[in-house]
Amino acid sequence: MKNVLKNSTFRLITGLFLGIIFGFIMKSFPSHFYIDNLIMDGIMRFLSSAFISLIKMTVIPLVFVSLICGIASFGDTKKLGMIGLKTILLFLFSTVGAIIISIMCAVFFKPGVGVNCDVASIASYTPPEVKSIVDIFLDIIPSNPIKSMSKGNLLQVLVFAVFFGVSIGTLGEKSKKLIEIFEIINDCMMKIVMIIMKVAPLGVFASISITVYSTGIDSLIGILKMVGVVVLALVLHTFLIYGGMLKIGCHLSIVKFLKRYTNVAGVAFSTASSNATLPVSMEMMKNAGVKSFIYQFVLPIGATVNMAGTAIAQGVTAVFISQAYGMELSFEAMLTIVVSAVLSSIGTAGVPGVGMIMMAMVLEAAGLPVQGIALVIGVDRILDMMRTTVNVMGDCVCCLVVAKSENVLELEKYNA
Ligand code: ASP
Repeated sequence: MKNVLKNSTFRLITGLFLGIIFGFIMKSFPSHFYIDNLIMDGIMRFLSSAFISLIKMTVIPLVFVSLICGIASFGDTKKLGMIGLKTILLFLFSTVGAIIISIMCAVFFKPGVGVNCDVASIASYTPPEVKSIVDIFLDIIPSNPIKSMSKGNLLQVLVFAVFFGVSIGTLGEKSKKLIEIFEIINDCMMKIVMIIMKVAPLGVFASISITVYSTGIDSLIGILKMVGVVVLALVLHTFLIYGGMLKIGCHLSIVKFLKRYTNVAGVAFSTASSNATLPVSMEMMKNAGVKSFIYQFVLPIGATVNMAGTAIAQGVTAVFISQAYGMELSFEAMLTIVVSAVLSSIGTAGVPGVGMIMMAMVLEAAGLPVQGIALVIGVDRILDMMRTTVNVMGDCVCCLVVAKSENVLELEKYNA
């Protein structure tokens, strides 16, 4: 029993479930100062925000330093290019698979048929501004890396770190000391993550209770079918695509993977942020026997560009909106959804809620009413928690596949 209580996964899941129950209990009471202001907006908000800020505190330095260490240790840029290409192809494969599964599920189950899209919220809803594809790509280039770091723009920090890592790697003997220093900082950051994770169950408890308390079940009822289709597509994707990549692609047990992943899933689910989960997924890959230069390279890139879960939510939402508005989706429109959802998921930052904002681009491209987002915005936080869990899972799966293909995965550790 003592061992079970010490088990970090058990503590995290317990925190998650107790948080859900606590949120429902608080919601069942009539509005009162003690509940609204003191407990939920006071103690719970403090615990949740403190935990998320503590995790976020490590993200920028960890990504910057670990990516540099990862790239610099490749030494030869040819190998780096090869692994980079493999990583990107795996990300693309998984995202395209995800969006196809999601469109098929939504077309088959028709979650939007019969939905009343005449609701008042649509009239008062201001759709997000649609970013052009050129702007999305221009946004990746940092004009001032220090500003990118202070603003927490992970994608720009990544680009700078890639340049830095490649240059340092080519300097040979001269840069050896500097690489060593970066490695020490990296170890130090990982240590900080381990310390923060000790309070994770409390942070997860508070975050989830706030979500349950503020979202409630009411906003879910109306579009329960749509949420169900998203869940189904996420599950299918997990077992078909990720399971296939692990089992067929590299003969690894998915059960073993899922067991290890539970801890990471708890953080991804409660924070709804791939970026914030990055330190924990790195820890998982390290314990699963992946060599550091692989996870230091694959995971930070994955956290910013690999979003299969987001693509699934976008695919289902697009079809849902077309059905709710009674609009027929041509094959060409579906193809447009596939391409634009892949692009927009790449452009989606690994922070809460961005996937739904990027949704505007998918709808606009497919000729669907952007106002339709109002129909699903009420449950976005719940969808976000689920899609983030699948996004981060994808990063870990791709990381394992790359490691296995490069023969740098310690199987005894993975199977332990
Ligand atoms: N919250 C998601 C993530 O961090 C992105 C999104 O779909 O909004 O992975």
